[in-house]
Amino acid sequence: MIDDKRKRLSSMNDPLGREVLLAFWKAHVLHHAASRPVYGLWLIEELAEHGYRLSPGTLYPLLARMERNGWLRAEPGERPNARKNYRITREGRRVLHALRGHIEELHREVVRDVEPRRRSRRDTKEKTR
Ligand SMILES: [Zn+2]
Repeated sequence: MIDDKRKRLSSMNDPLGREVLLAFWKAHVLHHAASRPVYGLWLIEELAEHGYRLSPGTLYPLLARMERNGWLRAEPGERPNARKNYRITREGRRVLHALRGHIEELHREVVRDVEPRRRSRRDTKEKTR
């Protein structure tokens, strides 16, 4: 059932799914580029294992935007048509670190259904009244 949902959301014809998932895909790219240089085809296969079917026409512009943002640095291959390797930059690591905090927070509330701390503090105060 989860697989069906993933498939539906990763469909390129679903603008809502795509808009949200673009951020998830960038988090994946930063995560993997943080441990080793990555290249387009490898990322397409890696994301497919998570149930996301990206075409090169989606992935390469995404990588180019991440490069323009200064999060990745592309290293051209030795031959003119050789694949490009992407490495994470210092700024990319900073973004990845911040993203982890956002993902944890989102997971806590949306997946584990835990309320934010400040709200539970207020609830406690109201109870003591
Ligand atoms: Zn991944």
